[in-house]
Amino acid sequence: MRERLYLFDTTLRDGAQTNGVDFTLSDKLAIMRMLDELGIDYVEGGYPGANPIDTELFSAPRGLNATFTAFGMTRRPGRSASNDPGLNALLQAKADAICFVAKSWDYHVRVALETTLEENLASIRDSVRAAKSKGREVLLDCEHFFDGYKANPSYALACARTAYEEGARWVVLCDTNGGTLPHEVASIVAEVVRAIPGEHVGIHAHNDTEQAVANSFAAVRAGARQIQGTLNGLGERCGNANLVSIIPTLKLKPEYAQAFDIGVSDDNLKRLAHISHELDERLNRAPNRHAPYVGESAFATKAGIHASAIVKEPATYEHVAPERVGNRRKLLVSDQAGRSNVLAELDRIGLKVSKDDPRVARLLDEVKEREAIGYAYEAADASFELLARRMLGTVPKFFDVTYFDVKVEQRRHNGSGSEMLTTAVVKVKIGNEMLINAAEGNGPVNALDVALRKDLGKYQKFIDKLKLTDYRVRILNAGTGAVTRVLIESEDETGEHWTTVGVSPNIIDASFQALMDSIVYKLVRSGAEA
Ligand SMILES: [Zn+2]
Repeated sequence: MRERLYLFDTTLRDGAQTNGVDFTLSDKLAIMRMLDELGIDYVEGGYPGANPIDTELFSAPRGLNATFTAFGMTRRPGRSASNDPGLNALLQAKADAICFVAKSWDYHVRVALETTLEENLASIRDSVRAAKSKGREVLLDCEHFFDGYKANPSYALACARTAYEEGARWVVLCDTNGGTLPHEVASIVAEVVRAIPGEHVGIHAHNDTEQAVANSFAAVRAGARQIQGTLNGLGERCGNANLVSIIPTLKLKPEYAQAFDIGVSDDNLKRLAHISHELDERLNRAPNRHAPYVGESAFATKAGIHASAIVKEPATYEHVAPERVGNRRKLLVSDQAGRSNVLAELDRIGLKVSKDDPRVARLLDEVKEREAIGYAYEAADASFELLARRMLGTVPKFFDVTYFDVKVEQRRHNGSGSEMLTTAVVKVKIGNEMLINAAEGNGPVNALDVALRKDLGKYQKFIDKLKLTDYRVRILNAGTGAVTRVLIESEDETGEHWTTVGVSPNIIDASFQALMDSIVYKLVRSGAEA
């Protein structure tokens, strides 16, 4: 019998503290969906009441399979639970669970909180009770637990116990400063689980000694049954425990795989590399080539003495099979490994094609050529699907853009500054019909988009409700010079989301390609006929 081990993701809360990372609402919604589809048990969305985006995120139920969790502080010292606006915002949030954070280091209670040790315990008790009475599942993050435990074990434990005895589902031991070492985590967690059953104990590790993942496993070995972490180890300073490293270790290393079940299926594990890269693309960060399991170099071996051995028997130089996490053996990219990735993608899209079909090899070559010049198909699912469908001959010729023109003008006004005017003109040929659309926009890409979608004749009804929800630009150095990559995310009336990509030395051209793919994708999905 395997025990259930729970995964709690805090990318959208603790990960939002990463230097240079600023999540928009659409980022948060998209990442939430990614985590949910992956099979994460708890998705912590943020801190309702603390900023407008998080407040908006928690203004409606999000319909996840995962337990959608709001984060916030226990009631302030010296106030009643009903008279604390922060706590009330948290209780109003449309969340399945509430994760409270409370101090568990006596020194911090006195110095930072300026209150008594007893009042801090009362605040934990009252807050857990208030959330329970609203029907929420409750977690308590015990801040600075390990440092607190070293300073005053009975008080740190009293904080955790108070929450547990009041009915909190989980007490989470946080290594807030990230300086605790694995053997210390192991011995402290072992002592905690004598007082609180391990199936109610979680670990929240930071990476300041580069041991957040090791600390998480040390806690699990000592009895904890929930791991908190973030995608790609995002987080303040050196980051949080990286779930992208933890998940495959739990699934593929026999010690853990035989002892525990997690919510991530074998099939979803194969999407892990894709998910990790998709997040980086969204944040406009270059993926870490050397990331364990999912990095481009994680299974790359330089040709030489190892190469022939790997060809004969991959297991000789690989600790796990790269396909299990959706990665590939770098040495062999042009053959079986790349091919099976493409076949898996085609299968996911629902395109039936036999594995020996020569078009599969052609598609793989095309993808590789295009990725070499800057296209990013892992981040642009819809553009990949169109490329595949075109190669298999199943995309109708809907319309042709025979001409477009974008004009940006600065108009000076006498004495009152200037304004920017942007206009676009697009000529579209549909069958024998020629349509000319003109539009103004708040910038060249917007004007082009509005003109393109203003009148598409008989196709207009399919794209009326299409919305662009995100637009991201990255300058890449590929080949001979700098090129621009544009990723556009779209949404339709059914709530479906898709991403398309365009690449060109010219940003307008790159944007045009991505816009065209988005419209054509929508027409294909709607079953429009040529
Ligand atoms: Zn943290």
